[in-house]
Amino acid sequence: MINKSLKELAALLAAKQISSVELTREFLARIARLNPTINAFVTLDEERTLAQARAADERIAKGEAAPLTGIPIAQKDIFAAHGWRTTCGSRMLENFIAPYDAHIVQEFDRAGAVNLGRTNMDEFAMGSSNETSHYGKVRNPWDVERVPGGSSGGSAAAVAARMCPAATGTDTGGSIRQPASLCGLSGLKPTYGVCSRYGLVAFASSLDQAGPMAKSAEDLALMMNVMAGFDPRDSTSLPREKEDYARDLGKSLAGLRIGLPREYFAEGLDSGVAQVVQNAIAEYRKLGAQIVEISLPNNKLSIPVYYVLAPAEASSNLARFDGVRYGYRAPEYADLNDMYCKTRAQGFGAEVKRRIMIGTYVLSAGYYDAYYLKAQKIRRLIAQDFVEAFKHCDVIMGPTAPGTAFKFGEKTADPVQMYLEDLYTIAVNLAGLPGMSIPAGFAGNLPVGLQIIGNYFDEAKMLNIGHALQQQTDWHLRLPEGV
Ligand code: GLN
Repeated sequence: MINKSLKELAALLAAKQISSVELTREFLARIARLNPTINAFVTLDEERTLAQARAADERIAKGEAAPLTGIPIAQKDIFAAHGWRTTCGSRMLENFIAPYDAHIVQEFDRAGAVNLGRTNMDEFAMGSSNETSHYGKVRNPWDVERVPGGSSGGSAAAVAARMCPAATGTDTGGSIRQPASLCGLSGLKPTYGVCSRYGLVAFASSLDQAGPMAKSAEDLALMMNVMAGFDPRDSTSLPREKEDYARDLGKSLAGLRIGLPREYFAEGLDSGVAQVVQNAIAEYRKLGAQIVEISLPNNKLSIPVYYVLAPAEASSNLARFDGVRYGYRAPEYADLNDMYCKTRAQGFGAEVKRRIMIGTYVLSAGYYDAYYLKAQKIRRLIAQDFVEAFKHCDVIMGPTAPGTAFKFGEKTADPVQMYLEDLYTIAVNLAGLPGMSIPAGFAGNLPVGLQIIGNYFDEAKMLNIGHALQQQTDWHLRLPEGV
């Protein structure tokens, strides 16, 4: 049961071979057994979850099921969900019960999916290892001494350990793709504006995007069919027709032009990862694709640019956590100013404070032109690189992350080492493009992801490209030992 695709689960539910309550209980039992080690979930509410499962069973009985009705889905703890504690990995929101639903939570509810629980994450989605969560680190099911990646590491570990069939994530600079790579999953960051950010706790609003994490590309397509779509409550949501993300699955790849950026196969890339990526590309050649060498000359600037722009936006977004409106408030203080200072000093962790300080600095009078404005200009050049590249190829492929899952503590002492984890993912967010990671093999017994970057709104095409590899290989179905 645990390794079945969403489509297979839906078929079992439709045929009444299993009920949603039974299926949900099976995953809840796995969570009870595995979560004490993995720490992928921060909040569970069995009663609420099972009530949804019962409602789904009634809907199925009435013949009114949608494709995901009755299927349990885990939600990253960044999406407001009415009545659920929504912590965003922070002490600041430790006791915050969301009074409304994020758009995508609402869409999953409408589809009849079952909300299985809330997954752990780096605090305010800042991190690449899930070590910054106030609720403790998440362990990688492939090796519990190693990180699952971040910031959607709880969702990634939950799917990898088959504690849920699929989960949601968010990706500001790589937070869906990098943990998907490190945990052996498929994950998609859609084109900016495709999934509504309404009810998603804001980190860097011009980069944040919600997306699905699951075993296969086909499962991602079914998740996208629920998550994507216009929402007037998010001013950056794009008014586009609803589309079927599974519509291209099974199409031939003959003649597909795959661009390999020279800069992605250079210094900094682990040789084992490079080998896995090359093998996957060889597989695509067999499927009829052609390889084109391309260049993304400004890629090397993407990390410095991101670490000016993302903290700038974060410093402004996180100003709302002031101890007045909602969230944590320091228990003792002398006056209003002291209350602000103590609340923020106690409520935020070290990485979040680092970002707020950098962000405030780069936006301050006298430094704005030198840092923020300069970074915005380079952001445009980075986006322009992709426009140029897509004149010569249909999709871009390369590694998702420079290495495999690393040990706890290995990169915490030096933030810059941690930031380099997103060397191949951040430019995609800066340009607003869709990016996906799919499992492509192993290096030293640890999963390795292949990144597929598409042009704007090419998600359906990318999902088919991922699906095609998954028809030839079984990397996406491998299970970590002990799971
Ligand atoms: N690792 C990056 C950061 O720390 C990206 C995080 C994300 O995508 N949310 O900001």
